[in-house]
Amino acid sequence: MGATWEEVREFTAGGHPVVTGPAALHALQAHLEQLGPVAKVVLGDRHTLAHCLPELLAHVPVLRGAPTMVIEPGEASKRVEVCTALWQHMVQQALDRRTVLLCLGGGVVTDVGGFVAGAYKRGIRCVHVPTSLLAMVDAAIGGKTGVDLDGVKNVVGVFHDPLGTYVHVPFLRTLGKRELLNGVAEMIKHGLVRDAAHFEALCQAPLHDLDALEALVARSAAIKAAVVSEDPRESGPRKLLNFGHTIGHAVESFSWEGDRRALLHGEAVAIGMWCEAWLSHHLGMLAEEEMLRITSQLHELYAPYALTPEDDHRILELMRNDKKNTDGAFRFTLLQRIGEGRVGVPASADDVRQALEAYRRSV
Ligand code: NAD
Repeated sequence: MGATWEEVREFTAGGHPVVTGPAALHALQAHLEQLGPVAKVVLGDRHTLAHCLPELLAHVPVLRGAPTMVIEPGEASKRVEVCTALWQHMVQQALDRRTVLLCLGGGVVTDVGGFVAGAYKRGIRCVHVPTSLLAMVDAAIGGKTGVDLDGVKNVVGVFHDPLGTYVHVPFLRTLGKRELLNGVAEMIKHGLVRDAAHFEALCQAPLHDLDALEALVARSAAIKAAVVSEDPRESGPRKLLNFGHTIGHAVESFSWEGDRRALLHGEAVAIGMWCEAWLSHHLGMLAEEEMLRITSQLHELYAPYALTPEDDHRILELMRNDKKNTDGAFRFTLLQRIGEGRVGVPASADDVRQALEAYRRSV
């Protein structure tokens, strides 16, 4: 195989390791070998089994011959009914408690697979092999799993740490540009709240060049892992990762209503980060020059989204329904400077309206 252990970078995310670098799949092979003769099942969606499974099997021979389970691609698969069908299949196959479920896919597969593993026979082991950029730097790290219910995202789920998350960047070769930018938004967020040099590197990187992306993916995964380690069960400090999400989540839900252009999560977070960087400056925390650096970079990467003043009311309503804003006040994670976020900053509905208006004027 030619890969050496020096090419593996490993760090801890709360209760599980994250392995990155050119030899990550080599490390996965070694890890699975250590587990001995236990049943291994690969879960993927139609796209990831077609595009990524052959490469996985080429690098991880211990998985050759492992049975596969497939779900349909997309958020619609994050449903209890889909999990039930998987559990029924696992019972029919008489899979016992020693079984290891390997989740090969984007955040939908790792969220569903983590939940299925977390509840089957009171919890079996799973391994995450993320294949989308968003899953590599975010969804597959930290042990949060879950499915949606009645249109509400992630409302049923458990914390269930995988044995490990193995990040193999070449899987991104087959991921579309829009999906790639979806993940870049979370990487930009990591830089903005924790690491100014990472933000600058992302601004300069040729994002289509996977070799250039490799180290940046590892850095982002390490930042997510470090924040998770400080707060594995999300009781406080992990809120740092909410930057851009308070307004972003509401804009995302809003975009799915009616016949509007539906936004991907990262696209909505990019709008949320634009508004929340503006808010950080408006509330006297972030220097104007840094705010302009952030907002111009976001405009360079993400197409403008048309919002009218009449939309503000609905966006604020969605923000009030958000679990992050339960006490009636809006609490934001904002920026003190590029590379340093601050959690729990209060802001009013009028501040939010002004931020949305500033975004409208800028596009
Ligand atoms: P996704 O899993 O739907 O993947 C996006 C699309 O890309 C799908 O069509 C998928 O089949 C395809 N795909 C994935 N890898 C591919 C590859 N290498 N080549 C070709 N096609 C590929 O979506 P996502 O953006 O990866 O994840 C979004 C989900 O993650 C959401 O449900 C979100 O709630 C969840 N999430 C969870 C956490 C967490 O902490 N658990 C964090 C962030 C997001």
